[in-house]
Amino acid sequence: MQRTLFLEEHRLFRDSYRHFVEKEMVPHYAQWEKDGHVARDLWLKAGQQGFLGINVPEELGGSGIDDYRYSVIMMEEVARACVGSAGGGMGLHNDIVIPYILTYGNAEQKPRWLPGMCSGEIISAIAMTEPDTGSDLAAVRTTAVREGDHYLVNGQKTFITNGLLSDLVVAVVKTNPALGHKGISLLIIERGMEGFKRGRLLEKVGLKAQDTAELIFEDVQVPVSNLLGEEGQGFYYLMRQLARERLNVAVGAMAACETALEITLNYCKQRTAFGKPIGSFQNSRFKLAEMKTEIEIGRVFTDRCIDELLQGTLTPETAAMAKWWTTDLQKRVVDECVQLHGGYGYMLEYPIARAYLDARVQSIYAGTNEIMKEIIGRSLGV
Ligand SMILES: Cc1cc2nc3c(=O)[nH]c(=O)nc-3n(C[C@H](O)[C@H](O)[C@H](O)COP(=O)(O)OP(=O)(O)OC[C@H]3O[C@@H](n4cnc5c(N)ncnc54)[C@H](O)[C@@H]3O)c2cc1C
Repeated sequence: MQRTLFLEEHRLFRDSYRHFVEKEMVPHYAQWEKDGHVARDLWLKAGQQGFLGINVPEELGGSGIDDYRYSVIMMEEVARACVGSAGGGMGLHNDIVIPYILTYGNAEQKPRWLPGMCSGEIISAIAMTEPDTGSDLAAVRTTAVREGDHYLVNGQKTFITNGLLSDLVVAVVKTNPALGHKGISLLIIERGMEGFKRGRLLEKVGLKAQDTAELIFEDVQVPVSNLLGEEGQGFYYLMRQLARERLNVAVGAMAACETALEITLNYCKQRTAFGKPIGSFQNSRFKLAEMKTEIEIGRVFTDRCIDELLQGTLTPETAAMAKWWTTDLQKRVVDECVQLHGGYGYMLEYPIARAYLDARVQSIYAGTNEIMKEIIGRSLGV
């Protein structure tokens, strides 16, 4: 089915980002997978070429274009080139952290951070999850105690994307632990602040080039001027922004499904068994047909969600539906695709094997799929 989302300017942007991915990511990807993170200069190159902070006003270093479709294109192109984990950190920076600063930052904060975030000199992260709590965000234990003109921050975060490279972290902290979720605030913690340490760079099952690390805060003095928005409003800010984060995952899932099917279709046409292409066995044709059908269905729904986000009407429930359904689909699709590759599907030199490993986390992060179903279920009044 024809996609109706994109206009000529988006097609031109897609061509230029595709070129960037092929030139600046693909040749280095194997090394980054070994390192566990991309090179810092990738960020600077992305900044120079206008791929960071597209939605940031021009006077603050961005392109001044508030159009989510550019983010969609970037997510789709890294998936298409099978270098998704090199683009994940930038997606988080562009689509999650920058919107927090644009939405809740004040007139002094925006010029302080956004130009560097657009140039790639400031890499950002968002730190919600802690060793003892992930899904239950209200139970975070990191505390920020006000002492005059600063907060004293103590706590630990884990599984943080861009954790190692980040210069600016939007940290979810309790400024008033007695108030539960009403005591949560967002505080910007910056590289170089005394007591802000990195823990381990975590070794993951997949997404090998994506930097995922632990963060430790030990008596970090964070100026009150680094508070994002109002004290005690952090939980509500997070709830408002999470729909977009969940749609991001769905967009990545659909792009990964389409890429996996394309790779597998080519393989099925070339590989022979019993004197004929493996794609011509009825089982293979049926599997490919089923996948093609479900991917089309997922694509239409996801594009409709993108449209709703652009119109400002995407609800958290619809975003949750997109997140759980597309990521479950992705896991099924890559599993079938590995099967159709036979033994080669189990070899890491084949992109489908890496796609299989990368897919597993999709139903876990950005809110587990069980939590997505809770959100949808609650909206049904049950
Ligand atoms: C690669 C990767 C990158 C990540 N990046 C970030 C990041 O940048 N920033 C960040 O803050 N976090 C990040 N995370 C953390 C991620 O968001 C959490 O792992 C996720 O929210 C789940 O939390 P948890 O791991 O503590 O699992 P838990 O909350 O302990 O859940 C364990 C199991 O219990 C189930 N469960 C929990 N509560 C319920 C319930 N009410 N009903 C039904 N089932 C339930 C869950 O669905 C899950 O199956 C990342 C994680 C990974 C793996």
